[in-house]
Amino acid sequence: DTVYLNGDYLPLADARISVMDRGFLFGDGVYEVIPVYNGRLFRFEDHIRRLNNSLRAIRLELEKSPDQWRGIFQPMLDGDKDQYIYLQITRGCAPRRDHGFPEHVVPTVFAMCNDIKPFAGRLTGIKAVTLDDTRWQMCHVKATALLAHLLLRQEALDRDCAEAILVRHGYVTEGAASNLFAVIDDELITPPNSHEILPGITRDVILELAQANGIACREDIIALEALQNASEVWVTSSTREIVPVVELDGQTVGAGTPGPLFHRMDQLLQAYKQSQA
Ligand code: PLP
Repeated sequence: DTVYLNGDYLPLADARISVMDRGFLFGDGVYEVIPVYNGRLFRFEDHIRRLNNSLRAIRLELEKSPDQWRGIFQPMLDGDKDQYIYLQITRGCAPRRDHGFPEHVVPTVFAMCNDIKPFAGRLTGIKAVTLDDTRWQMCHVKATALLAHLLLRQEALDRDCAEAILVRHGYVTEGAASNLFAVIDDELITPPNSHEILPGITRDVILELAQANGIACREDIIALEALQNASEVWVTSSTREIVPVVELDGQTVGAGTPGPLFHRMDQLLQAYKQSQA
């Protein structure tokens, strides 16, 4: 369990940061989760582009090229396993707890590599519940401050559901830790990128695969009522991939089993992963 912290590789148990780190005090940082298949970083440039957008959005200056990041991650990869890199960057430590950004501060950079545990709900389908989207207005930033997400996910778990699907102004946005797709009138629909959702890399891949394979697909807002009448609902993320929702708010979705378009897209995604590994 070797991790990377500020230029060093060390055992996880020895990786320490100060209690004055602004990540600890304020959640003042951003992160990325990058899947690794067969030792290859999946859609690496896309993940680094999103990281740089997140850093810019919180005004944290840290310039590293994709190759520099690759060099940092490479020693932690094991080619025999499906893994993911967790990368977190905080604004660093200041001598005092003060909301304003400190001057001359060195960002804290932490990365670790974990095995991807296959998510059991991926093939059986999951239950989900819709909840009011209580998050902030910068959901396109992959910020480490995840308290709203955590409360929403836990509320779902407490109701025996695996994911919360979030609702703003009568429209669904995304999951607590996933993007959202629905099949409505034989068309695959996902909400458009905006400050209300995280621009998911898995989401991008699915849109590309739909386009390349003649699957009718578009980005459009989805009203809560339309979602509740959809023939298929999926949530997507890097570590869980495509997860069909077979029960939404206690009502069966479609036939109550993973739908035909899910099976098709899952096959396309698995083949695409293989082609990139
Ligand atoms: N939306 C949120 C809020 C997330 O936390 C995540 C990732 O876990 C996603 C969407 C999916 O993004 P990606 O496909 O890049 O993992």
